[in-house]
Amino acid sequence: MTEPLVQVRNLEKHFPVRGGVLQRTTGWVKAVTGVSFDIAKGETLGLVGESGCGKSTLGRMLVRLLDPTGGSILFENVDIATASGNELKTLRRDVQMIFQDPYSSLDPRTQVGSSIAEGLKIHGIGDSDEVQERVSEMLELVGLERHHASRFPHEFSGGQRQRIGIARALILRPRFVVADEPVSALDVSVQAQVLNLLSELQQELDLTLLFIAHNLAVVEHVSDRVAVMYLGDIVEIAHRDDLYREPQHPYTEALLSAIPIPDPTLKRDRVVLVGDVPSPLNPPTGCKFHPRCPIAHLGVCDIETPHLEYVAEGSIHEASCHLRTGAYRHLDPSRTNT
Ligand code: SF4
Repeated sequence: MTEPLVQVRNLEKHFPVRGGVLQRTTGWVKAVTGVSFDIAKGETLGLVGESGCGKSTLGRMLVRLLDPTGGSILFENVDIATASGNELKTLRRDVQMIFQDPYSSLDPRTQVGSSIAEGLKIHGIGDSDEVQERVSEMLELVGLERHHASRFPHEFSGGQRQRIGIARALILRPRFVVADEPVSALDVSVQAQVLNLLSELQQELDLTLLFIAHNLAVVEHVSDRVAVMYLGDIVEIAHRDDLYREPQHPYTEALLSAIPIPDPTLKRDRVVLVGDVPSPLNPPTGCKFHPRCPIAHLGVCDIETPHLEYVAEGSIHEASCHLRTGAYRHLDPSRTNT
């Protein structure tokens, strides 16, 4: 991997659960439980998992919309997790977020040109002519037209509004962007257009991207590497082709098996997961996936916590599964949960 732009180490986020008349803390929801990974300059890392797995919480910490409970996020040797004052203000120019629902982040009474220009004004960049010119250029860059600057959000389609959201995020020319489910609220017919736009912009503006989605089919086309999250942990991370061709974690296998194949002559065995994602308030012991895992080996999987390990010597493919890596690789999977 080329030089990392972002280095995440042991990142955690715990939310307090309050109860009673005095609203005392009665427990903690451990949304992200100590994840570590790098993102190389110019790379797109896809981050997938079911809703509630902690991926959006992780993304929000990377742009410091949420304060981490522990761990570090190094961006060119500055720790986003603890930055404050001017250091944090400078980071906010370099690190931006594209949201799932651009409509909720756009003021319905503000012309889209003013919404896009907001970041420039906050950072005191350019006089009014320069601001107007940069907004016009950005509108063209995202496939809209200069005159759209004077229109209001309700005058645009869902796909166009997401283009406006992208323009807002990119107006400061950030170097690292977290895109949180940027196409999930869009019609399938316009999803591909927005995905293509993001890929083009990444090339043109030399962006580094964390692309969050609940669907492995969506991240396949935009990602260089893919990380799979389950209940606050990254359970597998690999180069895109390795992960799609030879997934090692049973959870990744299950997610992949749900993707329809557009060829009726090909068949893929569907791995149906039993039960729902357990509560992060009271996660299962050992491997958190064991109550749903079709190959769980009870006596090991429900007791010992697996950690990310390389699946083979010299490989960059990592998975956290006792039966696929490490000392218990020799165990026969017993279908104890089916
Ligand atoms: Fe399944 Fe055990 Fe691997 Fe967890 S460690 S994924 S329960 S086989």
